[in-house]
Amino acid sequence: MHIAVVGAGLSGLTAARQLQSQGHHVTVYEKSLGVSGRMSTRQTELGGFDHGAQYFTATSQRFKKEIADWTKSGWVAPWNARLVTLNNAHTTVAGKKGSRYVAIPGMSALGKQLAHGLDVRKEQQVLAVERLGQQWVLKIQSPSVAIPASAGPFDAVVFAIPADQVVPLLDVAPEWKEQVQQAALTPCWTLMLGFQNSLELDFDGAWVQQSRLGWIARDTSKPEHRVGERWVAHATPAWSVEHLEDDHERVKEKLLKAFHEATGSWIQPIYAVTHRWRYAQAERPLLNDCLWNAELGLGVCGDWFAVGLDGAGRVENAFMSGLALANKIS
Ligand SMILES: Cc1cc2nc3c(=O)[nH]c(=O)nc-3n(C[C@H](O)[C@H](O)[C@H](O)COP(=O)(O)OP(=O)(O)OC[C@H]3O[C@@H](n4cnc5c(N)ncnc54)[C@H](O)[C@@H]3O)c2cc1C
Repeated sequence: MHIAVVGAGLSGLTAARQLQSQGHHVTVYEKSLGVSGRMSTRQTELGGFDHGAQYFTATSQRFKKEIADWTKSGWVAPWNARLVTLNNAHTTVAGKKGSRYVAIPGMSALGKQLAHGLDVRKEQQVLAVERLGQQWVLKIQSPSVAIPASAGPFDAVVFAIPADQVVPLLDVAPEWKEQVQQAALTPCWTLMLGFQNSLELDFDGAWVQQSRLGWIARDTSKPEHRVGERWVAHATPAWSVEHLEDDHERVKEKLLKAFHEATGSWIQPIYAVTHRWRYAQAERPLLNDCLWNAELGLGVCGDWFAVGLDGAGRVENAFMSGLALANKIS
């Protein structure tokens, strides 16, 4: 079959690789300039910032095996971080244990490795899918072409994008719409900070309590993460929802203050930039592993499916959901 995969994040790349290995002809459409989606690294003059997913863990045997293979290939490495809980600069060593992994030299490197050998069309946003007899045609917008173009025909289409972004594309499967709407993702405001010198804090990552921030991490403590002192700070979902439409300067000021209060360090950064993730993590995942309608040749996967795991909205869910969908497509 000729299959279109919409989205080149971890779920889409996993589905595409598996489908290709099953003998299908696969084309991946990605609206951004690069692959990896929310597992991304922002390149700056100071070095890279993993400003989306911070690390990943594995609970399923299948994902553990995949991580072992990626580790052997040199694509990922364990992050042996000193993790704590912070409450007004008061530090408590975090009890949360378990192996944490990161892609090297930055999170987006994994997607780039997984995309090798796949036909990935970047800067191609899928605006709609339309039926053409028993097949599908995609309506595509690209920055270099003034009017939307058509692509296809395809025997099947796989959506591997956040739930909120799937909904407008589901006029062709209205019976799924209500279900998918329930899995809406919460936003996350992120602050990236670069410092001239080390802050000399005695931890690499922290869950922050009673703050606008929920998490901070020293990006440069990650394996092969280069020299320097770069930190990533994520606001809590509640604060991000409340301030979703605030301007970047205002958010930067507020989150920087929260960073100072949380760490007790008042050293000023030489680099401070915010990023707004409109769709960050699923709080109400769908309990199944993916959606697939064999008659239509239409499927949906992503990290907002629980796939039998404890919770969702994580890299492991994205991988397991992409794999599950590809395995359902014979
Ligand atoms: C701030 C933040 C922190 C996180 N922290 C962690 C963490 O510590 N650990 C963890 O395990 N997970 C974490 N996550 C979640 C993790 O990043 C995701 O679970 C995973 O990356 C999702 O992969 P995906 O392929 O399902 O979706 P995505 O990565 O979102 O990929 C979807 C892709 O589709 C593209 N796209 C969207 N619409 C279209 C369209 N119409 N046409 C073409 N392309 C389209 C997007 O550009 C994107 O590249 C975090 C996420 C965020 C944002």
